[in-house]
Amino acid sequence: MPDHSHSTEAARSDLVGGPSPRPAPSRGELGHALFRLWLLNVLAGTLVGSLWFFDAPVDRAPWIRVYVSLALVSSVAVLALVPGAAFLVIWRWIRSWRLACLMAGFVGAWFLAILYTDTIVYRLLRYHFFDSAVLNVVLTKGSGDSIILGAYVWETAGLVIGGLTLIQCLCSAWFARRIQRLNGEGVRGNLFLQPKTVVVLGFLPTLLFSQSVSAAADVAQHREALRAIQPIPVVPRVRLGQIIEPLLDPDAARPPEMDLLPVNATLDWPHQRPEIPADAPKRNVFVCVLDSWRRDMFDPELTPNISAFAEGARVFEDHLSGGNGTRYGLFTMLYGLHGSYWFPVLAQRRAPVLVEAMQAAGYDVRVFSSASMSFPEFRETAWVGVDDQSILDSFPPGLVSYQKDELLAEAFEAWMERRRVTRDERPFFAFVLIDAPHQPYENPGGPYAPAVESLDYIELGRTTEGPELVGLQERVRNAYKNSVVHADQTAGRLLDTLERAGESEDTFTIVTGDHGEEFFECGFWGHTSNFSPPQVQVPFIFRGPGIEPGREPRPTSHLDFSSTLLELLGADPAMRGGYSLGADLLAPPETRDRVVAGWSDIGLWTASGIFDIPLTAPGLGGWVQELECYDLPWDPVADVALRCRTERSALETMARECALFLKVR
Ligand SMILES: [Zn+2]
Repeated sequence: MPDHSHSTEAARSDLVGGPSPRPAPSRGELGHALFRLWLLNVLAGTLVGSLWFFDAPVDRAPWIRVYVSLALVSSVAVLALVPGAAFLVIWRWIRSWRLACLMAGFVGAWFLAILYTDTIVYRLLRYHFFDSAVLNVVLTKGSGDSIILGAYVWETAGLVIGGLTLIQCLCSAWFARRIQRLNGEGVRGNLFLQPKTVVVLGFLPTLLFSQSVSAAADVAQHREALRAIQPIPVVPRVRLGQIIEPLLDPDAARPPEMDLLPVNATLDWPHQRPEIPADAPKRNVFVCVLDSWRRDMFDPELTPNISAFAEGARVFEDHLSGGNGTRYGLFTMLYGLHGSYWFPVLAQRRAPVLVEAMQAAGYDVRVFSSASMSFPEFRETAWVGVDDQSILDSFPPGLVSYQKDELLAEAFEAWMERRRVTRDERPFFAFVLIDAPHQPYENPGGPYAPAVESLDYIELGRTTEGPELVGLQERVRNAYKNSVVHADQTAGRLLDTLERAGESEDTFTIVTGDHGEEFFECGFWGHTSNFSPPQVQVPFIFRGPGIEPGREPRPTSHLDFSSTLLELLGADPAMRGGYSLGADLLAPPETRDRVVAGWSDIGLWTASGIFDIPLTAPGLGGWVQELECYDLPWDPVADVALRCRTERSALETMARECALFLKVR
């Protein structure tokens, strides 16, 4: 029988149990082979990981390139220790060498697939898949409503993992047979592929070098170098600057270290509890939120129903959401607190004073939402005091967002009819969340064309420039617009229901978005990824008794909503500072700085630009992020320290506001 052991065909015939009379490779030989497979995965992983640097400047200094490359290799090697260790755990029980190759290939394939997924997630959102905030989305119940991947993505993933498993399995079998053959011929194995050599001569020096450069860059505040490695996940970065800098130069011009949410802080809120007086006229409240509705998507052509309603309303022309995602957008609106308070509020399951005051005044509180109220965790926060029968957020399986919106409008009509039939005289607070404009922009078709039929996240991640980008932007924006058209019809139907029930004159009605939506105007798709105008500017339309119709050009925020509403319902304005960080929507200040929250950072809109301040929160902030500053719409500012000095009082006010309702143990 000829010796085919050096060929992959032989490896394949070995694996499928072909006619091979040779003994199996020894445990030691197999171990060496699988170590080579691990090295191969580190190399392949480094190639995949280079996709993290898709927007790296081309004119980078050579030493920074070397530094970034070494940091990347050492980071991927550290990450690859996880699947390596996982395999070692099962390896002791695997007796068949073929099965060992197959399992090693399977683990390696998953490693590369997850790494690749992370590069896509990072391109789209600038988060890492490994970050706990993203794992939270993946693992929390109800998150299927927030992120929807098409069947195409799952099929592709299955094929890719299957193919990679086969390739890796064949490679390891080939390595094992080759090592076995060389051993049989008495040839010494390659010294440079021995595990000890790789660790001592390769891995440790790389890690040591990249960490030393990190430390030096931190001391010198070399922002270019610090920014350069930002895209790499899980590199333990040495931050020497914080420790030795005060010794070097106590007045060094570095951005301030702000701890907006100390780990040991608990909620101390409210200081004062507003009340709706018993003798105040009973007004209903109707809050209609269109998910992901950005400010420039409110016009008579696109949203004719809401525009007609706005004729008799006050339209806020410079309104910001309090967050770049649903969680913080709605939280700031209902609580009147910055998004940094989300964590202590959730930990202590505290209801908004707005909802509690209305319940105390005998309001019927109802929630109609096409998106799950379990994720984000509104059942444990905003609606913690509302009984489950009053919250509608579950629908027959298989329905997409716009179909849920239609059922939601029906349920709202049925509820209004029930109120009429049972002569329910209680005032109501109805909160409605329409979901069609949220990704993936489901709609039954609409006037805007050409439009994408479904969102291909891989295509979104890849397309970053040129005519392809312009075309993709148009098709994605058109799909979104068609969803907005449908959402406007739903909103119109709800507003009509109120009108027909004769309730609209006695009702404070608000139509707004929970946050905006970006179509790569500032380098991102969707929301939750920056604090640029497309992601945080929303329409805000307010109508009701005593609200003068017209335009409001002054700067306002979602933060102002709950206290303004309570005061319209009769609460004492002198108490506002005891429970809210907002201003009066009906008499807003001429100028102001506004806070917008994200998953792991806080944005501060000032007159001179937007700050992006990392938030250290329990379970968040796995990687070090620097305070950044951007000019409108979202251009990085070079001298952040200088900008921090200019806007010092705005930063200090924000830090004070973030601490006002906290008690540090
Ligand atoms: Zn949202």
